[in-house]
Amino acid sequence: DDLLLDVRHLKAYFRSKQRTVKAVDDLSFTLKKGEILGLVGESGCGKSTTTKALLRLIGNQRKEYLEGEAFFEGEDLIKKSDKQMQKIRGNKIGFIAQNPMSSLNPVFTIGNQIAEVPQMHQRAAKNKAWSIALKMLQKVGISDHETRAKQYAHQFSGGMKQRAVIAMALAGNPSLLIADEPTTALDVTIQAQILDLMVKLRDETQAGVLLITHDLGVVAEVCDRVAVMYAGKIVEQAPVDELFHHPQHPYTKGLLASMPKIGSRKKLIPISGHPPNLYEMQGGCLFQERCPFAFDRCKNVEPPLHKIAENHQSACHLSSERMNSF
Ligand code: SF4
Ligand code: MG
Repeated sequence: DDLLLDVRHLKAYFRSKQRTVKAVDDLSFTLKKGEILGLVGESGCGKSTTTKALLRLIGNQRKEYLEGEAFFEGEDLIKKSDKQMQKIRGNKIGFIAQNPMSSLNPVFTIGNQIAEVPQMHQRAAKNKAWSIALKMLQKVGISDHETRAKQYAHQFSGGMKQRAVIAMALAGNPSLLIADEPTTALDVTIQAQILDLMVKLRDETQAGVLLITHDLGVVAEVCDRVAVMYAGKIVEQAPVDELFHHPQHPYTKGLLASMPKIGSRKKLIPISGHPPNLYEMQGGCLFQERCPFAFDRCKNVEPPLHKIAENHQSACHLSSERMNSF
């Protein structure tokens, strides 16, 4: 079966003496092999916390709380020990960070850093690992890769650094790639190239890709399916065409209305108002303060994410009423 990732009721909270911030609150979604799922929303909606939870970069410690299940290739990541996770991260799960410099070490050559992945995870011999590194640099389109492999991060342009990070993520031959805003720091032309590259690599390797972005233009371009997050929850989920042509949730509609023309790749203009303080949340719909359609029930009853069409879910009382009235 082609289910790769099955996240169920994931919760990631940050707590202090005064308050608990529910950064990710009861998130459920799936990802298939070879599928690119876009996780989209404004900054602070919990997208990055979701990736950190899945990679177990946050856990159950004094100030962090993690709950739920995340079955990856049938095994629950949330139940893995830190040691088991170290083997999975960078190996079966590749991670591409927003800022490539957070993944690149300035004092080792790019080639050595990529070679370290198969050396560490597959116990590859040094020369074997080096040839894997060269192959990966070639794969991500770095020309003159034999020379480049011997260079350091500061000798690479921004786009080349991001390619090097992708090469590093691929060197473990992952079945899941998690990319957190992988193009945000890059200029428009390079952004497009990096996105093309990710699609090409998905086609070649059939890896599943979880792409975190605030940019619906990016989603339209590369994703198969999209989950819209708001205040730590998924408020709408659908295949990309369905979401763009039949958005149901008022938040999604707002995002789409504020989206610049596809292809212009300008930053998304946020819809009016601000997300709720995640430590001051009251009952009812989390979007009520900003929603032009809010009515009485929205104040008291939280709308559950529910099916409104095949493969399409929305968490809004109005989309449920629409359905019921037919
Ligand atoms: Fe707006 Fe109410 Fe729907 Fe929430 S449930 S999005 S407040 S109409
Ligand atoms: Mg983020």
